[in-house]
Amino acid sequence: MKKKTVVIGGGLAGLSVAARLARVGQDVVLLEKAPKLGGRAVTIPLKGFDFNFGAHAIYSRDSSYIRKLEKELRLNIGWVDFDPKKARYDLGDQMTEMPATLEGLYKTKVLLNGATKARFAIEIVKTVCLLERGEEGVSIGEWFRRSGKHKEVQDLMLTLASSNFFTQEPERIPSTVFFKYYQRLFRTSKAVSYIAGGWGSLVAELERVIIESGSQIMTKVKIESVLFQQGRVSGVVTSEGVIEGEEFVFAVPPKELGKIFEGTPLQSSIAPYLLHKANNVLVYDIGLHKRIETPYTYIYDKNARVFMTDISAYTPCTPEGGQLIQAVAYLKSEEVGDREHAAVRKEAIERLFDKHLPGWREQLAAKRYTERAAAQEIKVEDDQQLMPVQFHACSNAFFAGDWVQGVGQLSELSFSSGYEVGERILRKGNTGWIELAV
Ligand SMILES: Cc1cc2nc3c(=O)[nH]c(=O)nc-3n(C[C@H](O)[C@H](O)[C@H](O)COP(=O)(O)OP(=O)(O)OC[C@H]3O[C@@H](n4cnc5c(N)ncnc54)[C@H](O)[C@@H]3O)c2cc1C
Repeated sequence: MKKKTVVIGGGLAGLSVAARLARVGQDVVLLEKAPKLGGRAVTIPLKGFDFNFGAHAIYSRDSSYIRKLEKELRLNIGWVDFDPKKARYDLGDQMTEMPATLEGLYKTKVLLNGATKARFAIEIVKTVCLLERGEEGVSIGEWFRRSGKHKEVQDLMLTLASSNFFTQEPERIPSTVFFKYYQRLFRTSKAVSYIAGGWGSLVAELERVIIESGSQIMTKVKIESVLFQQGRVSGVVTSEGVIEGEEFVFAVPPKELGKIFEGTPLQSSIAPYLLHKANNVLVYDIGLHKRIETPYTYIYDKNARVFMTDISAYTPCTPEGGQLIQAVAYLKSEEVGDREHAAVRKEAIERLFDKHLPGWREQLAAKRYTERAAAQEIKVEDDQQLMPVQFHACSNAFFAGDWVQGVGQLSELSFSSGYEVGERILRKGNTGWIELAV
């Protein structure tokens, strides 16, 4: 008898768990409430432009979980590596190299002299060699203050974290999370890579594996509640009736979990995570009829904490001769939903466009503007904790997504938590509960 696993949520987390279990021969049914798969990882065609949420940038791809999945599931992913030579910090009065390579570090003006550059290089070595690990309960801002590190080095570390963690307030990142993240990123030879064809091509690949393995995907099926019997999940109530199974993977964001687990034995375990804030950003992407030549494909405005990427320089996503620029402004939690503030940040992005893409307004063909998009469903700041992949109170309910404990940030959390869920289900074999890894 094949084991039946029900996966709820067809974003990157749900799709990757379902594809992996289906590939090893499990009977998987994936349920997604939307008509389309992908969740936040969607590619939306508009007037011939393919708009994605984010530049579908994968960090440290050589050691990433998506790379593991690519190999295990034989996914066809076209990787396009980010070119650090075409990336700049905009310091207001001048542009300067990002210290993403040795050459960049040598040339950059964010660190003023050779001595501070050497100090920064030493910090990288110390991080990679695990000599710096941070301290539980201490933010990286506070940790830097106590450490007495050179001010410019601190500032550059926080600037890097601002873009890697998509945050306006990098100083609030827990210091232990900060060092774990950079221990991995500083070791990589592929700091940032894009997926050719955008999120849509990856989603299509995961869908292909699920279907080719004989498992099932049901879209437009919303889970309304969860049924429990003797402390285990026995089924989920959907718009199409009850669906039963042996193992259940919930790859839906915390707010939705709060609703569907209401009145169940897991309600109190899930409750604390419903209070945590998401990491919302403002998105302003533009499609241009005609390419405006610019020497840079990525510019980070260090003062405004806004970045733009010429994604069309990396992957075809426009009509012939066009250009697609993606821009994101990081937001503080209290700024989310504030229309006046959003207008100010939008202007900051437009100023960046005006400066680096002269004439863009005349070439504007399509745009995608969102004041509030969840780049990560639980923001890693202060004492906000990511959810565990499993609670001791229930042996057959698992959780995956960018709000669940794993490796990295953003989609890497979805892939890594999904991978761990797959491992736990596979370890149980066909006989039921065996162990809970600590
Ligand atoms: C602006 C922006 C830029 C980004 N840029 C990057 C980037 O460059 N690199 C990167 O790695 N990541 C990036 N991300 C983050 C990345 O998109 C997410 O981490 C990832 O897509 C999350 O996938 P998920 O499966 O964990 O969650 P989701 O995508 O939220 O998937 C959850 C799924 O569950 C479904 N669902 C919800 N409720 C129910 C229900 N009751 N029944 C059935 N189904 C339900 C939803 O419809 C959805 O499909 C960005 C995100 C944004 C918004």
